[in-house]
Amino acid sequence: MKTVVTGGAGFIGSHIVDAYINEGHEVVVIDNLSKGKLENLNPKAQFYKVDVRDKESVDKIFDKEKPDVVNHHAAMIEVAKSVREPSETIEVNVVGTMNLLSAAVINNTKRFIFASTGGAIYGSPEEVRVDESYEPAPSSPYGLSKLLGEEEIRHYSRENNLEYVIFRYANIYGERQDSKGEAGVVAIFSELMREGEPPTIFGDGNKTRDYVYVGDVVEANVLALQNGTNNIFNIGRGVEVSDSQVFETVAKAVNFNEKPKFEPVRSGEVLRISLDAKRAKEELGWEPKINFEEGVAKVASK
Ligand code: NAD
Repeated sequence: MKTVVTGGAGFIGSHIVDAYINEGHEVVVIDNLSKGKLENLNPKAQFYKVDVRDKESVDKIFDKEKPDVVNHHAAMIEVAKSVREPSETIEVNVVGTMNLLSAAVINNTKRFIFASTGGAIYGSPEEVRVDESYEPAPSSPYGLSKLLGEEEIRHYSRENNLEYVIFRYANIYGERQDSKGEAGVVAIFSELMREGEPPTIFGDGNKTRDYVYVGDVVEANVLALQNGTNNIFNIGRGVEVSDSQVFETVAKAVNFNEKPKFEPVRSGEVLRISLDAKRAKEELGWEPKINFEEGVAKVASK
């Protein structure tokens, strides 16, 4: 099978590229390297340094490569930046997705797999643990851009012969996550603590997220090559982990003994959430295997 993986030089995308290549698939990567790194890139992948906003180049790649599957992970991912500068997030995440969809249907691509967000699409839900039937109410332009991306995909699927699988990820962490961005708290805390610097917690430490190890996310993306057709899946563990717990777990893994710094919660941030992934278990055959302590122990000291 030939797969285009966008964002394949980034954190999650590069792990998916490795898994697809290990499974014997041919992989084409589209990434503009705005955040991705060449060192993440699997040498067996065909690489195009192209921006997904550049429709002409995207069309040329699809015309040449004729992929069976598109796995779309390229995006602007920073929530706070999307509040400050919404138009760039909308251009990359909405117009970029449209360019890929249009090239996919012209070239008879069979399936479109999409990295959406569970953390930012549901807003601050009244129930803390949400399933896919909970009505999205994004609290940031980033969350909005992902909801619009989902709707574009469903539209193109209805109007064409294109199957889709949409993943609403919880907070993903693991090897190769950028420690310099504003997301990626495990990577950020780990690096600071290894350097002896106390990390900053935004809020009082009680804000919660649902954390999933990247290896588990890769498994969902492998399953999605064949299963889960035309469905939306939460990818989470259904377990709330507070910022203070993240701090303590990483501190224990790297032997850090100081206290954190505290600053006010940033605009657009959800206060508490965890994702119910029962549908992924029943219809995709996916279950997370690594708990937070195990996952942090794998990555924090590197
Ligand atoms: P990342 O920044 O490491 O990866 C994104 C990749 O996309 C990077 O390699 C970047 O260079 C590339 N990219 C960005 N803009 C581009 C453009 N205009 N054209 C081409 N390439 C571009 O981020 P990640 O954490 O690996 O996230 C991957 C996907 O998963 C994103 O779509 C993100 O919204 C989604 N997601 C991530 C999380 C998480 O916790 N990390 C949670 C929910 C959803």
